[in-house]
Order: sequence, then C-alpha cells, then structure tokens
Amino acid sequence: MSEKFVYADHAATTAVTDTALAAMLPHFTRDYGNPSSLYRFAQEGKTHLEEARAQVAACLNAKPEEVYFTSGGTEADNWALRGVAELMALKGKKTGHIITTAIEHHAILHTAQWLEKQGYEVTCLPVDGDGLVDPANLEQAIRPDTILISVMAANNEIGTIQPIAEIGAIARAHKVLFHTDAVQAVGHIPVDVEAWNVDLLSLSGHKFGGPKGIGALYMKKPLRLPALIQGGGQEKGRRSGTENVPGAAGMAAALKEAVDHLPEESARLAALRDKLIAGLSALPYSRRTGHPVKRLPGTASFVFEGVEGEALLLHLDARGICASSGSACSSASLDPSHVLLSIGLPHAIAHGSLRLSLGAENTEEDVEYILKEVPAVVAYLREMSPVWDKEAQKPTWEL
Ligand code: PLP
Repeated sequence: MSEKFVYADHAATTAVTDTALAAMLPHFTRDYGNPSSLYRFAQEGKTHLEEARAQVAACLNAKPEEVYFTSGGTEADNWALRGVAELMALKGKKTGHIITTAIEHHAILHTAQWLEKQGYEVTCLPVDGDGLVDPANLEQAIRPDTILISVMAANNEIGTIQPIAEIGAIARAHKVLFHTDAVQAVGHIPVDVEAWNVDLLSLSGHKFGGPKGIGALYMKKPLRLPALIQGGGQEKGRRSGTENVPGAAGMAAALKEAVDHLPEESARLAALRDKLIAGLSALPYSRRTGHPVKRLPGTASFVFEGVEGEALLLHLDARGICASSGSACSSASLDPSHVLLSIGLPHAIAHGSLRLSLGAENTEEDVEYILKEVPAVVAYLREMSPVWDKEAQKPTWEL
C-alpha cells in the first residue's frame, strides 16, 4: 500500500471545510432547539436557519424566500420534476411533455422515467461529442403541451458546462418552466438564477465543502410547487420535517466561502486540470472526455482504450489515489456510463473511463504524482489485457 494519499474525487463529495464545521458545531450541543418551538432558546436556531437561507440566496442572486432546504440534490431534483407535474395536474393538465437530456444524473433520469409510467411523455435530448446540448435542437423539441425543461448546468462525469442562460431564454420565450440540476455547478462556477432565467435550481451542500444530507431547491417567485414531503408543515408547508439547522448553517458557510474565493480557486484548479488533461490525453489510445474549455474547473476525464475502468480504479487506490470511473452512483453497475455512451463512445471504449476531480486540498505535487502513476497503471493493465495487441501496442479492435 502507498504512503501517498491523493483525493481526486471531489465531484463525488468533498471534506467539510473548517469554516463550515465551525458554523455547524454550536447547533449540535448549544443551540440545538427545534426551530419550530416557541420558546426563545429554540428561536436562536430559527434565526440561524433564516440567516443560512439568506446567505445561500445571496450566492445565487435569489431572494431568501425562494430557497427551500432539502435533504440534498436528489430530493431537490425529484421535487422539481414531480412538483411541476403535480402543479400542472392541479391546473387541469393531467399529462404533458417534459424535455430533458440524455446525460442527466439518475436523480433526474429515473424521476423522468417514473413520470413516463404515470403517462407523461419525455424527450431526452442528445448531446454532441463534447457533451453539449444544442439550444436550437431544444427549441425544436418544445411542444404546446411541454410543461418542463430540465437541463443540468454541469455534468458530473465529464464536467461539460451547458449554455444554461441561452436555454433559459428559450424556455422563457416559450413560457415553459425551466429547471437546472446545478449540483456540480454551485460553488464551482458563477451561478446567477436571474441571468440564467431559471425557475427551479437544485443544489447540494456536500459538493462544495458543506455537509452531506442538506441541499436546496430554488423556486422563482411566484412559482410555488406542491410539497413532495408531507408532515408538520416546515418550510412554509412545502417541505416538512424538523429543520436541519446545523446542515443549513454549514452549507451556507461553505457556499459563501466557495463563492468568495471562486475567481482565484477556479483559476488555480483549471491550471491543474489542464495539466492533467494535457499529460494523460497524450498517452497512446487515450483521450479527454467532455468539452475542451466549457468544463468544470476541477474536472479532468478520460478514456483509455484496452483498459477496464474498475481495474484502473483499484490499482490507483493501491497507489493512494482516489478517483472514479463514471459517476459514484453508477459504480454499483457494470454497464458503461449512459453519459459516455451518449457522447458517442463505443461500449468497449466507454468501459475504460477515469474521472479525476480536484478540489481545495489538491496541489501541483498531487498532479505530478497522478501524472506518474496513471500512465504506469494504464501500461500495466494493457499488458494484462486480452484486448490489447502487445506486439503492435494498440487495441485488438479496429473501430
Ligand atoms: N445531480 C448531480 C449532477 C450530481 O452530481 C449528484 C451527486 O452526485 C446529484 C444530483 C445528487 O446529489 P445528492 O448526493 O446531494 O443527493
């Protein structure tokens, strides 16, 4: 086992920052009152919850009353899609058409599939080889019965950033509600709900230095989705359950910290990312996945022909490098990632994927280490591989 440890999987989750932890701690042992209780002791918690809401809102250019806390990105995504469907049903439209993309996170894709079973029609837009949605194509897909467009702001596997403001303007012009899953974008690139023309936006605390188990759904006023979770009527009756005050305080502190340092930190990460991309895509039969420039500052992603992604991860783990192949949630399945297939990669090649996602604690030295270890592991796995022609030093297939 290696002495060296390099965590390069920040798109899966991040460490809670010191600032976020400091904001959370008092709410576990000192200000632990239930914000819904009436005595003054509990009202402290309520005050901090509202401060956290205002802080999150300010980081998105939203109003505090447009931010609803959830248990994370998955719940916010489910709520956005199912909530719009229910809202429209309440207005008399019992079925309708939803537009999304082929490369969304499963929180969106599986919810859309569930809605399909309830009678909704879903169009999954294709993406180009770099993972970009074509706004003109999206506009053509809009129908008189389209009730929602949901396009992710940045992809979790290949890092491609979508033209959200342009898509938002199209949605607005056609008077169709627009949701963006911004779980990978918030805290990593500038996010402005007004400039983006979004009606709904999902975010998740643990992707930018906040704790796990807290996220938010932004709902543009006067849009008000029906509750997904019923109960005691918290969050103005729209999201019941005792408020996660430590989570909200930690997430808000982490987000403010990330947004305050965004220009310097994203430039620093982008330089490290580009070094990884230049180094690893230069290996034979290897290439970058995702857009060359419209990509998240910390995300470098690749495919290596003749290599199996899972084996690559295990060997990197033995050398102290934490990385991912496809997304963390698809690591439970042996199917190649739907994202990599959607950008046009053949099955055989999509199996050999690697995502390295950098964050606050990563250094130049980490990048040097990765640039030394990944080529060594790729070469070793190819030597062992039945689909690698050792004489010719190329894959046995002709694609
Ligand atoms: N959407 C995207 C794009 C993600 O990357 C993730 C998590 O990986 C989610 C949604 C789900 O977020 P959470 O882990 O907070 O449920």
